[in-house]
Amino acid sequence: MEIFTDVKGRAGLDCGGFCEFCFYKNVNFKHLTPIGCKNCPPEQIGCSYCNNFINRVSSDFKPLSQVLKDITEKYYQNFMNPLFHKDLKIIVGGGADIFSYPYINELITTLKDRDALLHLGYTSGKPIKDESMAENLISFGVDEVSFSVFSTNSDIRNRWMNDETSDASIKGLKMFCENIDLNASAVIIPGINDEDHLFETCADLEEWGVKSFTLRRFANFKYQGLILNDKPVINDINPHSYDEFKDLVRRVENEFSFNVLGYPFYDPKNDSPFTISKKYNRVYLENLKDITSEATIITSKLAEPFLKKIFGMVDKSNFVNIVSADKEIADLITHEDLKSLNLNELKSKVIIPGGAFVHDDYSKKLLSKDGNDRLIVRGPYVLTYPYNEGEHLTTKEELIKFELKSFNALIDKINS
Ligand code: SF4
Repeated sequence: MEIFTDVKGRAGLDCGGFCEFCFYKNVNFKHLTPIGCKNCPPEQIGCSYCNNFINRVSSDFKPLSQVLKDITEKYYQNFMNPLFHKDLKIIVGGGADIFSYPYINELITTLKDRDALLHLGYTSGKPIKDESMAENLISFGVDEVSFSVFSTNSDIRNRWMNDETSDASIKGLKMFCENIDLNASAVIIPGINDEDHLFETCADLEEWGVKSFTLRRFANFKYQGLILNDKPVINDINPHSYDEFKDLVRRVENEFSFNVLGYPFYDPKNDSPFTISKKYNRVYLENLKDITSEATIITSKLAEPFLKKIFGMVDKSNFVNIVSADKEIADLITHEDLKSLNLNELKSKVIIPGGAFVHDDYSKKLLSKDGNDRLIVRGPYVLTYPYNEGEHLTTKEELIKFELKSFNALIDKINS
């Protein structure tokens, strides 16, 4: 089992400077309006959950005593559960670079007194000023690190991550790969670190023994998922389309032996997301419940074709229509996206994504603006398996089981 603790930290400021591609680079945290979410009280837009989403990357690091208290409390809350002690892993994350946490050494030495694996995530490597840092962390007993690589080319790292000691960072990366589990990731920008540069990085990572590699498509526009800012992160860069990006992920998977994942989500090995939409898995759709009521499902641009395909096969009476907002990721749908929907397309019951950053009552107001009083219901939190960073890779059967359960929960919402 896992215990997760968050040491906080300010993106960019506590990373040794902003990377050029950092989503938070242009965000003015002092002038953000509350966004709203599933946990907000009826009369208020903004609550601790969605405020934390914003503040998570704009708060100072927590004192060591607070981090240790949080871990101790979680440890004893679960202590009596016999499964808890099996393969116990403590994951230390933050809003910025974990290697910049001022008490990192004390934290690790204290945590290693417990009989647990220790995972640090994530670092950009920029705080590594010479190899001795990596050497020390390994000798203190760190078992696993998540590392944002961007490229193993020192000049590219220097230019795009503003990494002044990029040679040392790469040496540290190599040392982690060779000695402990290292999950690498890279934001992929066309013309900067894709194609030949990417394959060179992959070849280095494979030679050094990386455990997994997650490719993250660079998002530069609101429709791709920027919700805290109107401006592009980098001017004049047009990121890969999802299909172009999937192709790149697939080519990396074909050529290298480590585990590969892409975000927006794509698992080439299991042909996921929405494994049940694939032709060879259609037989599993028989396990979905009958649809007996009308509803509109609001979803993202990327999920829309999958949902249309699945409901096209199981919704024999055409009770359900699928409408996509102008956002590629469903959980990042905001009030602005709801405002731009064509209300003529909406039925009297509307299902919105479970995790969308919208306020329930305000959404009802927006989606009933044409005088039709619509019922707004949140769907399941996820419809396809949300695993990440090379963790929890499962079999195709498990993925299918997960999706069938989620879609049956969605059908329950439609029918209720
Ligand atoms: S390391 Fe990550 S959080 Fe820090 S500036 Fe770079 S992209 Fe942003």
